[in-house]
Amino acid sequence: MDGTPKWDNAYPMFAPKTKNINSSLDYIYLAVNSYKYWCQVIYQLSHEISHCFIHCNEKDGDKLVSWIEETICEALSLYFLKLFYENYDKTDLYKLDKDYKDNILNYLNDILKETGNNWLKNCSTKEELMEINNTSEIKREDRKSEMVELYRLLDDENIKGLIKYRDYIISGTKFLDTYKYKEAYKNNEVINYLCELQENKL
Ligand SMILES: [Zn+2]
Repeated sequence: MDGTPKWDNAYPMFAPKTKNINSSLDYIYLAVNSYKYWCQVIYQLSHEISHCFIHCNEKDGDKLVSWIEETICEALSLYFLKLFYENYDKTDLYKLDKDYKDNILNYLNDILKETGNNWLKNCSTKEELMEINNTSEIKREDRKSEMVELYRLLDDENIKGLIKYRDYIISGTKFLDTYKYKEAYKNNEVINYLCELQENKL
């Protein structure tokens, strides 16, 4: 298609129109083995569309903090896999393959079986947190167990506050204003948990 940005890399990505030189559209790129590998499509699309939700809901600026955003998008992709599994009978895919449902659950459980190294939870300084931030897309194991914990706390109500995290990043820093964020979303377990991950660093 004319104007479509070229994408040669072997990994999925959300490309907002603000970064697309020759196009006025937002794009999501997938890197799937096959479009018939529905579990992988759901998983990747959920992750990238979560980046899109966050981007579109940001009030102003571009205050992305990678460790936070990747942890949220990874947790949401698991949440959407589970949602898809639970509602599979209502989807159009069900009409094509009535027996596929358990594959989605198996795919989700395989991801949940992988273990992390607990570094995000256990690191004690902001410098270490920034190390995790700088490698957040290549060393996902540093945040894996914390991401799973976040996923387990998710429900259809508390998600909305999570999507708004960028509005609570202190300008010019890579840190949340956790007081303001928690005040805006009182008794929101996922936001409390996310804030705690930053707050216990000196
Ligand atoms: Zn991502």
